[in-house]
Amino acid sequence: TAQAENPILRSLNAAQRRAVTSNASTVAILAGPGSGKTHTLTSRVVWLVQQTGYQPSDIVVATFTVKAAREMKERIGKVLGPECERKIVLGTFHSIARRYLSAYGKHIGLDSKFGIADDGDSRAIIQRICKRHDFNIDPGFARSWISKKKAKGHATEPASNKKQPENPSLNECYREYQEHLERSNLLDYDDLLVRCVELLREYPACVSNIQAVLIDEYQDTNGIQYDLMKLFAQARQRITIVGDPDQSIYGWRSAEIRNLYRLLRDYPETDEISLEENYRSSQSILDVSLTVIQQDKKRYQKVLLPVHTKGARPVLRKLKSSAAEGDWIVSEIKRAVMMFGDMLTYEDVAILLRSASLSRHIEAALGKAGLAYRMIGGHKFYERKEIKILLDYLRAIYQPDNNDAIARIINVPRRGIGDTTIKRLIEEAEQQKMSLWSLLRKHCQGTRKATTKILPKMEQKLNTELLRLISNLQTQAQQITENSQQDLVSLIEKLLSQLNFKQYLESEYPEDHEQRWQSVQEFLSLANDFVRDSANLEDELLPEIENVDQVKDDSILGRFLANVALASDAQKNDDGAEKKSLITISTIHAAKGLEWPIVFVPSVYAGSIPHSRAEDLDEERRLLYVAMTRAQVLLYLSCPLYGSQGMGTKVELSPFVSPFASAAFAKQGTSFNRPVLEVVAKILGRDLPSEKAIFAKLPAMFSPEDNLFPVDPVDTRDAEGLDDSEGYRPKGTKRQRLNNQGYN
Ligand code: ATP
Ligand code: MG
Repeated sequence: TAQAENPILRSLNAAQRRAVTSNASTVAILAGPGSGKTHTLTSRVVWLVQQTGYQPSDIVVATFTVKAAREMKERIGKVLGPECERKIVLGTFHSIARRYLSAYGKHIGLDSKFGIADDGDSRAIIQRICKRHDFNIDPGFARSWISKKKAKGHATEPASNKKQPENPSLNECYREYQEHLERSNLLDYDDLLVRCVELLREYPACVSNIQAVLIDEYQDTNGIQYDLMKLFAQARQRITIVGDPDQSIYGWRSAEIRNLYRLLRDYPETDEISLEENYRSSQSILDVSLTVIQQDKKRYQKVLLPVHTKGARPVLRKLKSSAAEGDWIVSEIKRAVMMFGDMLTYEDVAILLRSASLSRHIEAALGKAGLAYRMIGGHKFYERKEIKILLDYLRAIYQPDNNDAIARIINVPRRGIGDTTIKRLIEEAEQQKMSLWSLLRKHCQGTRKATTKILPKMEQKLNTELLRLISNLQTQAQQITENSQQDLVSLIEKLLSQLNFKQYLESEYPEDHEQRWQSVQEFLSLANDFVRDSANLEDELLPEIENVDQVKDDSILGRFLANVALASDAQKNDDGAEKKSLITISTIHAAKGLEWPIVFVPSVYAGSIPHSRAEDLDEERRLLYVAMTRAQVLLYLSCPLYGSQGMGTKVELSPFVSPFASAAFAKQGTSFNRPVLEVVAKILGRDLPSEKAIFAKLPAMFSPEDNLFPVDPVDTRDAEGLDDSEGYRPKGTKRQRLNNQGYN
């Protein structure tokens, strides 16, 4: 039969195969970490194209992170070819929504050239409004209040449980914020989803071609995303979701669980499939991870059995201080990478943090040891001052009505225009209901005098150094065509030279201008990568649908900026970095769905995880569970005696690592004897290293003062209190278990 022959199915187990080939219109796969949910979802996409003859362009796949989208695309491309990889509509909900809005948004009155206000922009706008009106509200609070307000009226958003009196200034803040976005032709993250829902409701023709909708990490979808899923599927009602309630780590717990239940209610014929084997981790890693999640007595229980053998015992290490913790991690990394010869490299190592702010002592230790790393999930790169300036210029070039961008660059580099003048100009523009850009232009061209006084000398500077510069580059930007792909890069280069940006950095940042110039170079190479990899207009276009008119926004600059605004992981991928083997530092949140052979989870103390400000303890526990289940063969948890926050406050090991769980860990380090090496090789599917390879690395990696074997005598006992090979098997049928949880 086709099933037996198809190579896509050969690597799957029976349940996975059933999920891939199911003819049911709705398929729900609920299963634990590492059980192959994402693998199965990708295979199902391939299957649908190959066996049911769906056009790739008629399939929508939503992933949770940009990185996951990239990996999935690559796999699909490998099997089905680059043409298919390009045509499939695959990305995060936000990026999919953006594509639909720029193609069809005009049908709901949206200017196709909208910009995206990222979280930082939104916060800044709100902050300004609060300041102007002397509102006594925390901008962060207002931001999430507005966000919830926008989500209201959508399928599963729970009614706010804490009844808060409506604060009139919050409403006012919301109103002005929204006005500001509209005037600047900006959509914030929520708007992208909300407006896309509106579009698909009012203009269903634009998704009339969609044959199938597939969603990864379903447990973390919110109410609007649920609506979007239904709307994308409205033509054929074919939906496949995969998820794991134990890994819901993005808040709104009730909403997420409700989304799951809602799906089963809205689509009663749903084919529910569970995957019960964990292919990712060694048995001992799976066992300790399960001891953590099983402390949650209310959870929906699932079967999860190890397919691999025990392997190295996970390590739980207490250290004197954060600094000692960093050093210990470095020495363990070195030891592991050395003892495994060429089987493991730095590339295989991830350090996963509860919050990005915990990275400092880790970065310091890695830096001291000369180990290179990359950061994911910290938004760090695009938040650098020099990069923000360039981005603001590019945004102003793309969209001169973006008042925020213009306001930030009026006096950068310095043109002698003070903050007060800028503030007055902004206010004047607002009063005149015109954009800051038009006000400045009219003013400098003398067609209309602004009431705000600007000295003639400054005015001239403004005119030549800002207004003309931007207009000229605008012309150049408009001339960029797909055929001359380098032009985005040359546009940025021109911007740099006209701003004298290098000199600007030298005079403004005498201490670290070289480093900053380096990141400008990185930015150029990111732009170059963007042009090379994904900027093909074809990638962005939605399929032609009869009688449906599509705006073809061929502005590569606009797409580049949107890509930056929606990049959840701003990591560098330039050739240099790729050749070097880098350790990954990531937040746990951004590591969702990913896996690494070696995983470190530092700072596992109460106050860090669970976080001192966390409201939902169960969610914090799930976070630790997500972190631990990223590991394939080596897992290290550590906890300093004194936390890094505050002035060395004494901290306690996280309560999630119960005494029972803690018994399963090795306390010092792990020994890499032959049997361990063999298990590692088998799990990773790599060749065992030769002894020669191991010894060859020795002198190169260690300095004489390194303590090579800091480990206590090898502990070969099995973890006490842990069932030997059982994994986990809950009682009762799935329906019964769902009912027991009160989800019906
Ligand atoms: P998470 O919940 O963390 O997102 P997941 O359920 O999506 O995990 P995958 O990432 O799809 O799991 O798979 C985990 C690992 O197991 C991957 O390396 C994948 O290639 C491998 N894997 C999945 N299914 C099989 C299989 N049938 N045989 C061998 N390896 C498999
Ligand atoms: Mg996954």
